[in-house]
Amino acid sequence: MKKESIYGLTFDQLAAWLMEQGQKKSRAQQVWDWLYRKRVADFSEMIDVNTECIQLLEQHFDIATLDEHLRQESADGTVKFLFRLQDGNLIETVLMRHKFGLSVCVTTQVGCNIGCSFCASGLLKKSRDLSGGEIVEQIMKVQLHLDQARQDEKVSHVVVMGIGEPFDNYANLSNFLRVIKDHKGLAIGPRHITVSTSGLADKIVEFADSDLHVNLAISLHAPNNDLRTRIMKINRAIPIEKLMEAIDYYLEKTNRRITLEYILLKDVNDRKEHALELVGLIGDQRRQLVNVNLIPYNPVDEHSQYQRSEQESVRAFYDALKKKGVSCSVRLEHGTDIDAACGQLRSKQIKKGANSDSDDNRVAVG
Ligand code: SF4
Repeated sequence: MKKESIYGLTFDQLAAWLMEQGQKKSRAQQVWDWLYRKRVADFSEMIDVNTECIQLLEQHFDIATLDEHLRQESADGTVKFLFRLQDGNLIETVLMRHKFGLSVCVTTQVGCNIGCSFCASGLLKKSRDLSGGEIVEQIMKVQLHLDQARQDEKVSHVVVMGIGEPFDNYANLSNFLRVIKDHKGLAIGPRHITVSTSGLADKIVEFADSDLHVNLAISLHAPNNDLRTRIMKINRAIPIEKLMEAIDYYLEKTNRRITLEYILLKDVNDRKEHALELVGLIGDQRRQLVNVNLIPYNPVDEHSQYQRSEQESVRAFYDALKKKGVSCSVRLEHGTDIDAACGQLRSKQIKKGANSDSDDNRVAVG
């Protein structure tokens, strides 16, 4: 029988479960410590936990459900992991090195149904949601990779921007966030965590009302409905007006800054007129709480209709926003010498029919 991943439980859920099994309340802290501070790979390594409790954990939970299938390491320190899930599906996780720390980008679904027309991940339709445990374990696997290098490095930031629409897997996303934020365990600060959505308006409202308090990024990619529907078919169901209503609710409720992601596609949405239309859409009221993140496009073979914007166009777009007082940044690129676009590594491996295990799956590039 397939067991649940232990990483899917929040601290309170673990404590409640242990008490139901007749264990002392204090046992939860002990187990949590072994999982997230000492980071054991097997329940039997929890040497000060009583045998009965270890057996209960072993009977009901798995501690490892992800297998590393492939690893690509870039010259800039970016590491892409391709993990195989227990059902054989493959998912991607990325470790990035920044000046401010180490950040991990996690996947929340196997495939994605949102179908953004530029995206390598969306080429493979969603086959299922990841469990909360499978999302947490991506962070644990990356942290163990760092632990093994013995450099005393810690994952400090998390971005939920990998394959999938996180708000389409909201309950598991919430559990994941509660686990990684828990100050008794991984203790990743809420301000160091960003969830990115394609713009599911009702979930943005639910997120605003929640006690999760992590950062929000929204994939906008176009300043008007015609263009956005061309780039992101979700815009047919949730047009910009509805999205903006949800954004306003979020800003009003939380008073937290949001990021609008804007992928720059050559001659599609990267002209100065688009920048000025975007300024108008953001408007004076929202300007103080909005940052636009411009993303130079990473071309994907299957979407040859899109090319990368010229550097001058990126500059001009950025300048146009800045001149109008809109806070703006250009995303730094990571792992350009490996399969840089989100989902590219996974889709290439699936096309290759990557179902056989290899003796040494590590690929060093650069
Ligand atoms: S960009 Fe994100 S939401 Fe859009 S298809 Fe790709 S994974 Fe899905």
